Amino acid sequence: MPAYPRPPFPPQSQPVPGRQTLMDPRPDCGEQSYRGSGRLAGKAALITGADSGIGRAVAIAFAREGADVAIAYLDEHEDAQETARWVEQAGRQCLLLPGDLARRQQCLDIVARTVERFGRVDILVNNAAFQMTHPTLADISDEEWQMTFDVNITAIFRLCQAAVPHMPAGGSIINTSSINSDAPNPTLLAYATTKGAIANFTAGLAQLLGEQGIRVNSVAPGPIWTPLIVSTMPPDKVTHFGDNTPLRRPGQPVEVAPLYVLLASDESSYVSGSRFGVTGGKPIL
Ligand code: NAD
Ligand code: MG
Repeated sequence: MPAYPRPPFPPQSQPVPGRQTLMDPRPDCGEQSYRGSGRLAGKAALITGADSGIGRAVAIAFAREGADVAIAYLDEHEDAQETARWVEQAGRQCLLLPGDLARRQQCLDIVARTVERFGRVDILVNNAAFQMTHPTLADISDEEWQMTFDVNITAIFRLCQAAVPHMPAGGSIINTSSINSDAPNPTLLAYATTKGAIANFTAGLAQLLGEQGIRVNSVAPGPIWTPLIVSTMPPDKVTHFGDNTPLRRPGQPVEVAPLYVLLASDESSYVSGSRFGVTGGKPIL
């Protein structure tokens, strides 16, 4: 097994949404290591939050497995262009879709542009999210609470509603939840609440779409070394990130991506309505 980085990490902090290029150590998104074997040959995927972190690792893995990829992100153009270079190096097409998913029209537009380019959506990965650390209840503004719900869960509803008419039988929706969905970190109250909602939404939607042959699952990562962490967690938490897991380190995005490949591929044709942990040994039951 590769020797992935362990805490303590150098102190660092960035403004939201964080830039992958500025992190030390740089997250490993499989740029040098992921090898594909045609498991998603000829499919078209839309992945939100795919400029960096887990989304970038999923984009690289999907492309190397043979899928064309549309990448939605907020405004990290440099990170997104790097992801696009990896997708294109794999011989696949990459469509870049910047903009704020808190806006309903943006959700509709990115699905429309993906369909315009690729003709359909075989795989939808709802992975973009916002979080912010607040030590007390009083610290959370009404606006931030609402925005967190808009980005993390309402956008998922809108993206699914817009994409499903363009998804053939055999389509797969994968929603990124979190270990916070059943073990909420109290300093991430709004975020953790949306992650519980994502897990529940996934289980319900899988039942609604089963008859159409569309599968819906959620992934619950534990601590993963990404820009989200260094832009939203207190410096002492960043330095010691992941040391409270049984594996005593955070996961790297490349360690999460293979599960998304499995859930996207026809190999998991009877897997729907489920939730999968990638937590470094922290239980989710
Ligand atoms: P990341 O910062 O690399 O990815 C999140 C992406 O979301 C950003 O790149 C950004 O472009 C996008 N985004 C944020 N707000 C947006 C908005 N308003 N409109 C459009 N896009 C927006 O971090 P990551 O850790 O890879 O996060 C990916 C997913 O993994 C998130 O759903 C996150 O909640 C989840 N997750 C992460 C961890 C972790 O420890 N890193 C743990 C559990 C779950
Ligand atoms: Mg980013």
